Amino acid sequence: MTTRLIDDSLFDNAADGASLRLAGARCAGCGTVVFPRQDSCPRCSEGPMSAHVLPVSGRVWSWTLQAFPPKPPYRPPTGAHRPYHVGYVDLGEVLVEARLAVPRARIRIGLPVRLTTVPAYHDDDGTEVLTFAFRPEEEEER
Ligand SMILES: [Zn+2]
Repeated sequence: MTTRLIDDSLFDNAADGASLRLAGARCAGCGTVVFPRQDSCPRCSEGPMSAHVLPVSGRVWSWTLQAFPPKPPYRPPTGAHRPYHVGYVDLGEVLVEARLAVPRARIRIGLPVRLTTVPAYHDDDGTEVLTFAFRPEEEEER
């Protein structure tokens, strides 16, 4: 099956899925880190902002269940919307809003998580579109 990333600009090395990293930006003036990238600093409005690769591991900072389909531009997966967890992950230097590929029985604030990708929807030509998400850290070690 053909796959593609939902938006290459969100990722540091979009061509190399094995070591995918999120691409943020860092303010040279005050050190504030943002994700996604933006051209001006939300804290000091000076900058300049330079590319900054985010850590792949963090902890769940808050979460909720996305039980109903979000408003557009959200596209439901083939078939219909299925509820998923979403929240903020604390990567130490920035909070990132992301899907959380964590089962209901395990999700909790403080859970160690790691960057991954999950299917979001399919293009009209059948290409599977992947978006970033975080999953429990220890699954990596199995
Ligand atoms: Zn700044």
